[in-house]
Parts: sequence; C-alpha cells; structure tokens
Amino acid sequence: MSVKEAKYQYTEAAEYLKSIEGWVCKNCGRYWGIDDHGEHMARYCCTREHVCDMCGVIVKGGYTRCEACREKVRAERYAKLERRDWDGDAPLCDWDSDRFFWSAEQLIDYLTDEAISLDSIRLCFAEEGKPPVFDFASLLEDHLPDDADLPDGYEKLEAHVNAFLKKHAPYCYWGSNVVPTRSSLVEHIGEDDLAEINKRVAEREADEAEEASLAAASEKGW
Ligand SMILES: [Zn+2]
Ligand SMILES: [Zn+2]
Repeated sequence: MSVKEAKYQYTEAAEYLKSIEGWVCKNCGRYWGIDDHGEHMARYCCTREHVCDMCGVIVKGGYTRCEACREKVRAERYAKLERRDWDGDAPLCDWDSDRFFWSAEQLIDYLTDEAISLDSIRLCFAEEGKPPVFDFASLLEDHLPDDADLPDGYEKLEAHVNAFLKKHAPYCYWGSNVVPTRSSLVEHIGEDDLAEINKRVAEREADEAEEASLAAASEKGW
C-alpha cells in the first residue's frame, strides 16, 4: 500500500465542512469561535500591531500593552511589596532581572560602574530555593500495576534520599517579593559610596543630555 493509500484509510477521522459560522483570522485561517471573544482573537491573531488596553496608543510587536503602561503597572506592584530592613549581608536581587548581589560590595560596584541610582534599581531579597521532595509514589506512578503496593522499605529509602537532598543544599536562589527598605540600603552602602554612585549617575545623565542635543542639532542640519 502506498503512503497516500495508507493515509486515506482513516475515512472517519476527518470531515469537510462547507460552512462554519464564526470568526476566522484572514491571514492564517485559524478559527476563533462565534462570540465577541472570538472576534477579538481573530482580529488580533496575526496582527503585529495592537491598541494598548490601558492608554490606547498603538503598540508594535506581540504586546497588548505599551511599554509606559507596563512599566506603570510594574512600579505600582513593586511599591506595594512587603518591606524589610537589610542587614548588609543577605543576598539581594534585581527584581526586574535575574541579577544577584551576594555582598554590599557587589551591589556598590554594579551601581557605580553602570551609573544606576539607588532609586531607579528595584531590589528585592534573594531566597534560597527548597530541595525537591523525592517520593516513590510519583516516581512509579506509571509503572506499577493498578492497586499494587509500593515495594517494601520504600519509606526508609525516601527519608534517606530526602535527608541527602536537604544536606546537599544550597540550591539555587530566586528573587522574592520582599524589598529591602531604602534606609537600610543607604546605611549599608555608606555615604561615601552613595555619593560616588550619585556622581556617576549625574555624569551619565549629563552625557546623555549632551548626546541628545547634538543629535537634535544634526537633525536640524546645523
Ligand atoms: Zn492568524
Ligand atoms: Zn499604554
């Protein structure tokens, strides 16, 4: 039997529909359903341009919200997070990226080198992840016959493996939703380093302003 013949023996598997009612993307042909949601999805399906659902500006790319509105929502979320004092030692994390700071020095170096102000970086505490929990029931779920008991002695082995996993921490760190207070950051960064950071930030801003005015001037043909 040829491949084509083999393919067409599944006569019941498909049906040709002459008319389906509902919304279809004109570009890719995907069917999205009959209701308002279907209309919305079909119109947006292959569109690379959206209207921001918060402010109404046109957004390019796959986003449904413009960058300014996304930033506004993130800033509001960050402002509402729990605050706790930092002891200067606990690892911190940039809430907006996966950059970690394992010491005050590392944080100071980063802010100084990149000329980032303490008020523009959104920091949070980094938390150590928990070890995975090993259990035979999940491991053997698809391999044991129905109603079969787990092999004798499994509890002992489970406890042993879990103790081993716990002992061999540390596991990777994650950013949390707890934010170091500004006063504790200032205290542990120290006045001198903070002054240096602020100086670098001012220099960078001045450079950027000069570049922008040069660019504007060259655009005007001066
Ligand atoms: Zn489409
Ligand atoms: Zn917007």
